Amino acid sequence: MIWKSFLGGVGLVVLVLVAAILFNTLNVESQSVPGPSTQAAIAIDESVAAIRLAQAVQYRTVSVSSDMPAAGAAFRGLHEYLEASFPRVRDTLMRETINGYSLLYTWQGKDTSLKPILLAAHMDVVPVEPGTEDDWLHPPFAGKIADGFVWGRGTMDMKAAIFGILEAIEYLIGRGFTPDRTVYLAFGHDEEIGGNQGAAKIAELLDQRGVKLAFTLDEGLVVTEGILPGIDQPVAVIGIAERGFVNLKVTASGLGGHGSMPPSSSAIGRLGRALALLEANPMPAALRPPVTDMFDHVMAEMNFMTRLVFANRWLLEPVILRKLAEKPSTNALIRSTAAITVVAGGVKPNVIPQTADAIVNVRLLPGDTAASVIDHLRRVIDDPGIAITIVRGTNQEASPVSDTSSSDYRALASATRQVFPDALVAPGLMIGATDTPHYLDLADNSFRFQPLRMTSDDVSRFHGTNERIAIDNFADIIRFYVYVLCNDRVPEAARC
Ligand SMILES: [Zn+2]
Repeated sequence: MIWKSFLGGVGLVVLVLVAAILFNTLNVESQSVPGPSTQAAIAIDESVAAIRLAQAVQYRTVSVSSDMPAAGAAFRGLHEYLEASFPRVRDTLMRETINGYSLLYTWQGKDTSLKPILLAAHMDVVPVEPGTEDDWLHPPFAGKIADGFVWGRGTMDMKAAIFGILEAIEYLIGRGFTPDRTVYLAFGHDEEIGGNQGAAKIAELLDQRGVKLAFTLDEGLVVTEGILPGIDQPVAVIGIAERGFVNLKVTASGLGGHGSMPPSSSAIGRLGRALALLEANPMPAALRPPVTDMFDHVMAEMNFMTRLVFANRWLLEPVILRKLAEKPSTNALIRSTAAITVVAGGVKPNVIPQTADAIVNVRLLPGDTAASVIDHLRRVIDDPGIAITIVRGTNQEASPVSDTSSSDYRALASATRQVFPDALVAPGLMIGATDTPHYLDLADNSFRFQPLRMTSDDVSRFHGTNERIAIDNFADIIRFYVYVLCNDRVPEAARC
């Protein structure tokens, strides 16, 4: 009798659970931003714009390392080329050269009582990895147009954005448009090596001038196709936060001496053990904003099974975390990560060194701090002979999360939908690093988005081989910036 009622009780619990899971799954409301009711045609001569972009690829504005001088002649050449390519921009906007090679443009707005906005981008590109030159279908700095693409280093990251912004402004000036809010264009020259000479100096200057910004829009997330789980539609993800960045030095000490008489444990052995423990014990995984916001925004459009899992996070979070942990790109959304990038120790084959060290590149999830990660590492390594210190000048904590209920976020989302009517728009977390941290203190909100359409196949082109941009995507980028600039605070009214 007792057994029977126990079974009945279990049955009831299971039934209630299934009902709750189904209820949650079926009651997800779409958060898709409505598309525009009317859409003005923006006439852009794509092929001329593509040729202008392709020529910009030929300026080898490569950033190699902060120990090396900037590619001065290439930057100066690009500056002149920009000046010659966009005459209306030249005649209307003020342009200043900052710290030799970065550019700051000011487009004076009509209403000086409003906070200005800042569009950021970087003119530098990463080098082509030595030995991979022959893997390129077209030489990386030739600026070749073929098969509907502009090919070359920097097309995606991020000369297409620089040219997209300037093409858009050239177009708008031609239509007699003046923005309400002052618009700054901040084009740095050393983002790929930290931005300390470019974006940092521009930010310093704006700060000295007392500038307070409504928002910044920099590179970051993209229009993903087939990358988010369980969703067929493209998803434009606007970064509203960015992981932090800190380099840690892990130093092991031990007894030195002659190679013929080794002690039982050496500095290098100790370091090896510490690094193995570090890899075996990652930071705990967690689903936190803004990653949760991203999934919430696209949940209604997920296929049934994926939606069932995400709509029942209260029960199935461990399943989600396990799945996201499988791939490095999604693992980076759920935990602070630590990558061992440089190891040094020993100078001579028969001498046992007294110290050995490694650099660990840590990326901080919002909610974690450099201090909390160091605590975690000290605990898992648990060795008094291991010291962990922060490499000077590298500590950038995770950014604050920008406000998706702000009119500026909504205007950006609306501009995105205007250009990509088939895409969902969602906020998200930027996994990598951008120039944005330099401007954080100046702006109410910071957004990180470039309207590049990207499939998983394209991901390896970023900083990789065969970087390219489709000409029709480039035209979309131009249209996107036209809408961003002329939607200015009034997303509903298409003013251009
Ligand atoms: Zn970039």
